[in-house]
Amino acid sequence: MSASVMTKRILVVEDNPDNRILITDVLSALDYEVLVAVDGEEGLSLAKGEVPDLILMDLSLPKMDGWTATEQIKADDALKHIPIIALTAHAMVGDREKALQAGCDDYISKPIDLRELTSKLAHFLVED
Ligand code: MN
Repeated sequence: MSASVMTKRILVVEDNPDNRILITDVLSALDYEVLVAVDGEEGLSLAKGEVPDLILMDLSLPKMDGWTATEQIKADDALKHIPIIALTAHAMVGDREKALQAGCDDYISKPIDLRELTSKLAHFLVED
């Protein structure tokens, strides 16, 4: 393989502004390119238009929830290869099971542990 370095692009779908800013700052500091969507419909639309390398998906979202957006992405042959990590509220164990059933590849509990986030990103965004 060539040694060319490609900047990985991560789509963040999150309606909470504080979480959005935190995640965006962390990802930018790690040299990822960040795309942002503030509701499920915008997330699905950006996924189709930009085909990011990974998606961080909040579940409770306006217009279209994260489970539905994930199902639609995973039903699309052009998008289903994209790893989706759900962002779940810590106490909501049932939400995680639903996220995996919807097609999410993994989940991270909120409040977000930055070491867990960076370790999961490294796992799914293996450099080739
Ligand atoms: Mn939310």
